[in-house]
Order: sequence, then structure tokens, then C-alpha cells
Amino acid sequence: SRASARAILRRPAASWRGERIKLLINIQRVEDLDYPDAQYADGVGLMRTEFLLSERGLPDEETQFQVYDQVLRWADRRPVTIRTFDAGGDKPVPGFTSDGEANPFLGVRGLRLCLAKPEIFAVQLRALARAAVRGNLKVMLPMVTSADELEAARKLFAEIVQGLQAKGTAAMLPELGIMVEVPAAALSIASFKSAFFSIGSNDLAQYVLACDRSNGALAPMMDPLHPAVIELITRTAEHGRRAGIPVSLCGDMASDPRCIPALLDCGLRELSVNVSALAQIKQTIDRLGGGGGT
Ligand code: PEP
Ligand code: MG
Repeated sequence: SRASARAILRRPAASWRGERIKLLINIQRVEDLDYPDAQYADGVGLMRTEFLLSERGLPDEETQFQVYDQVLRWADRRPVTIRTFDAGGDKPVPGFTSDGEANPFLGVRGLRLCLAKPEIFAVQLRALARAAVRGNLKVMLPMVTSADELEAARKLFAEIVQGLQAKGTAAMLPELGIMVEVPAAALSIASFKSAFFSIGSNDLAQYVLACDRSNGALAPMMDPLHPAVIELITRTAEHGRRAGIPVSLCGDMASDPRCIPALLDCGLRELSVNVSALAQIKQTIDRLGGGGGT
């Protein structure tokens, strides 16, 4: 029941087969942290930042810094993973994304767009570099396809940090990781010098299954438990374990109790869920792990 799920929230972290399972939350706005269950999370596993763009154009560096700093303050020492702008595809942003594309899901979106518009990306990177000295910040790049893109972003980020430090501004390069949501990235995972990986199963399933994630007519086919999707999740988790690189999953399947046994079987030990699903997912893991859950 909902009441017993809430009681489990207050207990120490979920475990499965003796291994601690970390449960973090996905947020979009600082206000999402007001949801009472949020305080029981192991951190923020995904902060989507596109909403900052869609509301009043591009917010300036100081506005962005304040938002990121508030999340870090809330988290105290817990990790906070902030994803750089992931505009395009299902998340068009007027004035930022290009509207003439025949196939926006296969277009200039996510990190591709940020690298194509470095003057906009630089504002976000400056705000993130300043926030990095204030807490346990990790920065995550969306829609990465090849290692060159990660290295281009890292180079830009490092130049920005140097520029800030040269002016005497407190700033540092945070841990830099990537979303694994393009099949090519999952299939060439060892080529990325990434501090961590987070599997974006919404887009990964969309691209592996050739099903537009926003097309309701394809919803029955859009199965994140399809063996081809599970294979890529397993490979990514195995690579992480071998290479000593943390791997989590932040797509919607982590918030679906029916997917939890498969995700644990794939080798994942860290999931980032919608805050409204935190109690239920913790209870689901607790039951699978024989932890009682009554
Ligand atoms: C994903 O693709 O699974 C993901 C977590 O990101 P978004 O849903 O924002 O594309
Ligand atoms: Mg995605």
C-alpha cells in the first residue's frame, strides 16, 4: 500500500542480494524538491534544464547559477547530476532549436545543438563551473553519439573554467559524464573517457526500436524490456563494472515497478526515478531483496 511504501522511505537504503541500491530522483525545477519524499533520495540523478530555456528565453549566467546552487544546497553532500540543455526532438525550444528539420529526433538536438551554438552553451557551462565549487556536482551531456563530442565539450568546459579562474572567480571543472541514449554510444561505450554513465532508456528504446517516443500509436511496441534494449543496458552496466565507472539509469523504466527486476538483473545498482515513484520503487526493491517490506 501507499502507507507501507512511505514507511519504507524512512528506512536505510534499499538493498538487493546484499548490495546497496542507490535511488536518486529526477527533477526539472527547484520546486520539485518540495515534494516530501524527495528528502529520502540518495541525491539528484537527473536535473533536466531545458525548462530554463523554454520559459523566458535564455536565462543569464547568474540566474542559472542561482538555480543550480539552490539544488546543491538542498542536496547538502549528496550528489547532484545536472544535465546540460537537451533541446530538440520531443523538446523543441523556439529560437534555439531549428524548426526546418524533417526528422527532429535525428536532427541537431541535445549536445549537438549546444556544440553548434557555443555562445549559448558557454553561459550554462560558466554557471555550472561556478556551482561546482558549492557541492557534489556532476555534469551530464545528453544525446552523445561519439567520443569526439564528449572531448569537444570537455575542451570548451576546461577553457571556461580557466577563464573564470583567471578573473579570480571561484570555479572548477566538475565530473563530466554522458547519457547513454544513442545506440552508437551504447555499442562503443569503451571509447568514452566518461566519469560516469547514465542510461536514458526513453531515447535508447526509441532509437533501438525505431519507434517515435511521442507517437501513441506505437506505444504497444515501445517496450523498454525488448531484448535488444536490455542487451544494450546489460553491456553498459558490464562495461561500467569492469572499468570501475559508475552507471545509473534515469529513463522512465526506472520508475516502473515492472521493470525493476530486469534492471537489477542487468547489473544496475543505481537508478534515478521520478520523485512521485520513489516510495514505490524502494518498496519494490525491498521486496525483491527479501527485506520484508511490510
Ligand atoms: C531518456 O531519454 O531516457 C531521458 C532520461 O531523458 P529525456 O526523457 O529527458 O529525453
Ligand atoms: Mg533522452
